[in-house]
Amino acid sequence: MNTSASAMITQFAETNGYSPEGVWSAPGRVNLIGEHTDYNEGFVLPFAIDRRTRAAVGLRNDGVIRVTSTFDNTSAEFELAALDAARTAGEIVGWSAYPLGVAWALGEHGADLASVTGVDILIDSTVPVGAGLSSSAAIESSVALALNDLWNLGFSREKLAQVGQLAENDVVGAPTGIMDQSASLLGATDSAVFLDCRSLEANVVPLGLAAAELSILVIDTRVSHSHATGGYAERRAACETGAAAMGASSLRDVSVSDLDRAHELLDDVTYRRVRHVVTENQRVLDTVRVLREEGPLALGALLDESHVSMRDDFEISIPELDLAVETARGAGAIGARMTGGGFGGAAIALVPHALVSEVATAVRTAFAEAGFGEPVTFTVTPSRGAERMSTAELDG
Ligand code: ADP
Ligand code: MG
Repeated sequence: MNTSASAMITQFAETNGYSPEGVWSAPGRVNLIGEHTDYNEGFVLPFAIDRRTRAAVGLRNDGVIRVTSTFDNTSAEFELAALDAARTAGEIVGWSAYPLGVAWALGEHGADLASVTGVDILIDSTVPVGAGLSSSAAIESSVALALNDLWNLGFSREKLAQVGQLAENDVVGAPTGIMDQSASLLGATDSAVFLDCRSLEANVVPLGLAAAELSILVIDTRVSHSHATGGYAERRAACETGAAAMGASSLRDVSVSDLDRAHELLDDVTYRRVRHVVTENQRVLDTVRVLREEGPLALGALLDESHVSMRDDFEISIPELDLAVETARGAGAIGARMTGGGFGGAAIALVPHALVSEVATAVRTAFAEAGFGEPVTFTVTPSRGAERMSTAELDG
């Protein structure tokens, strides 16, 4: 949906019979580099994008939480104090598990759900669902920030990211890491979020795309990664086996200089899985350094190497992603790589502003010639993280 902020306030009033306290918004994200490193306690470098979820939230005079989405205009409501029991009984289902899960998770982190004021929440989003842009984290982060403000919880953004992750893990039931919520809550204009998945320390890293006149083109292959479950589990297991054989608690503790020893100790497949994670961690560190020392125009090789590593060593690419990356490079992209968990989903290409439509057209043509389904292409701009919308924005 593309409801304006003022239309959202009107819809909130129609749905709930009163005006909201405010509107909070949070972005989806794209991972610039650092794939399958999160569960190996490594590094990732995502950025918040200019597609956002907005949550209009009003205070009730009871202890009920009610959530509605413009997505399908359905609602769900529970007593806040009964959320934990509802979760245990498996009564929190469908999309409402994201916002209700956040309220529950705030309770797990210390909010007293028996004494806070009830809330009505209306959600509207421009983050495409299931395109690998984390529409889920956008909902979680907008609701977490809103409730943190309205309930005067004083939780840090890092803590709110953990709240979102807990909601997704324990209420939605998706075993995801903390990358998406961190990007959504900590992102900044023209910047990425460098996240250490072991310490959970996060630092904003300026990208400088605007000054270099670079765009990030997303090429969504529309190939669903729903069949990836087995492949994902196999990759995780291989990483654990590899780390254990190397005497490390996780692959975070294995470095590029250990790879010769890994080659001697491990079977070929496990070795290549390990090599991907170890070199990918190094590429994230190198990306942060290159951005600081040389700027984004120098990132091409790192992005390309990341893709080759996922294609050949981790073996999570598919022909559509490989074609997207090769074609984008051939048509003038500085660098390109598949992004996300693999087996489908999207690729990103770093492209000079002037070549964006040329690259997109080249990819579309190449897909048609290969007999692949039509991809969806669009640019994303690294943008600010979750925030409360100002009165001026709401009036505008
Ligand atoms: P992704 O995060 O990659 O977009 P997920 O499967 O993690 O994909 O999350 C998508 C789910 O999030 C949807 O199936 C739906 O349950 C929920 N969702 C996304 N956007 C909205 C929305 N605007 N309103 C309600 N639920 C939404
Ligand atoms: Mg998600």
